[in-house]
Formats: sequence, structure tokens, C-alpha cells
Amino acid sequence: MLNRNVQAKIEKTQERLDAGFVSKHFPEVASIVISMMYKQKGAKSLLRTLNFSTDSYAFFKVTCLSDGCVDGGFDMTQIVTSMIRNHSETSKGELGCDDNGSHPDHSNIVYDVAIQYT
Ligand SMILES: [Zn+2]
Repeated sequence: MLNRNVQAKIEKTQERLDAGFVSKHFPEVASIVISMMYKQKGAKSLLRTLNFSTDSYAFFKVTCLSDGCVDGGFDMTQIVTSMIRNHSETSKGELGCDDNGSHPDHSNIVYDVAIQYT
């Protein structure tokens, strides 16, 4: 039997494949760079950068750093799609983990999105 964590990982992989390529969804986009600073209680801040090109999967969900976090994470899809709709090039903000349930150690991110258009 698969445990919940493995099951969630499989679903996430499938979701990524289902997402399709950036070039298909957003033909006007040349590249997307998402820089994130993770902040988690009791842990060092961690900088992570995600680079998307036209042949990357248009999948903008980022995992939470918390070990106990299964269904949470940060969904940047709304942010990215609304930026593209408005043809905006940069956006900054903060997000908390989607799963704010019983587990106390969910991380937050401070993000910085930069999009280049063709
Ligand atoms: Zn979390």
C-alpha cells in the first residue's frame, strides 16, 4: 500500500505532466524566473530560483519545506497567469503554505517573479 506522501508525490508528477509546456499555454512568454526566499521557523532562510523556458512544463507549484507537509505548498499559478494577462514583467510578494493545518512548521516564501516576453 502506498503511504500518503508517496501518493501525493505521484499525483504531483502527473499534475506536472498534465500542465503541458509553457510555449503551448503562453506563446508570448520567452522565460519566467521565480526567485523565492523560504522562511521557516527554526530553520535558516533558503533561496531557491526556478527558471522556466518555453519548453518547460507550465507548472508553478512549489513545495513547502516542512517534513510533515503533504498537501501544502505554494501555488504560483494564479500569480504567473495574471502577470502574463497584464503583460507585467515583475511582481513581488509573500505567500504562506496552502496547508495551514495542525502541523506547526510550514514555511513562508517571499517571492520575486520576472517574466520576459517574446
Ligand atoms: Zn506546508
